[in-house]
Amino acid sequence: MNFKDEHRCRKAIIHLDMDAFYPSVEVLDDPSLRGKPVIVGGSRERGVVSSDEAFLDVTGTQRLLGEPAGVAAMIKKAVFGETGLTVSAGVAPNKFVSKIASDIAKPDGLTIVSPDAMTEFLDPLPIGKMWGVGRKTEQVLIEMKMLTFRDFRLMSAHILEKKTGRSWRQDATPGLRHRRERGRYRAGGKINRP
Ligand SMILES: [Mg+2]
Repeated sequence: MNFKDEHRCRKAIIHLDMDAFYPSVEVLDDPSLRGKPVIVGGSRERGVVSSDEAFLDVTGTQRLLGEPAGVAAMIKKAVFGETGLTVSAGVAPNKFVSKIASDIAKPDGLTIVSPDAMTEFLDPLPIGKMWGVGRKTEQVLIEMKMLTFRDFRLMSAHILEKKTGRSWRQDATPGLRHRRERGRYRAGGKINRP
């Protein structure tokens, strides 16, 4: 595999997230509401719409579709053209960072995080932006003086686990996402027993 091929096969994930989706759909149903503040009740009853976000793994599609950033821009344009709704997009080497990137981009934005810029991108972000950190964990982390992703990255893994009761992966290639799986904690592809 030469350098070019290797570059082409780099992992690339696009996260797409509709901006203010439910109110936007309400406006589509009733165009007279356009430009007015809309509050939608009973969103749960919208059985047809289960989610307003999606991950696309575009790894290895560069030759066919072009650069991931271009693909994301194309989808944004297509959705807007078809529906008049805006989408925010994040492009990154993994799901975790792509989701944060699309959130940062809101509304109607496109954020691209290249593999070598991930630490630089994440470090200054407030800890509450971390995927998998709810209000309770955020409080614990803030009490430990972990206000940013950088503080988190530099914290001793041992202390972190002791304080939060969870194991985390903190290396520079962020796989910081965290989910429970068959009674074990899975963080960044590694199985860690609690
Ligand atoms: Mg949304």
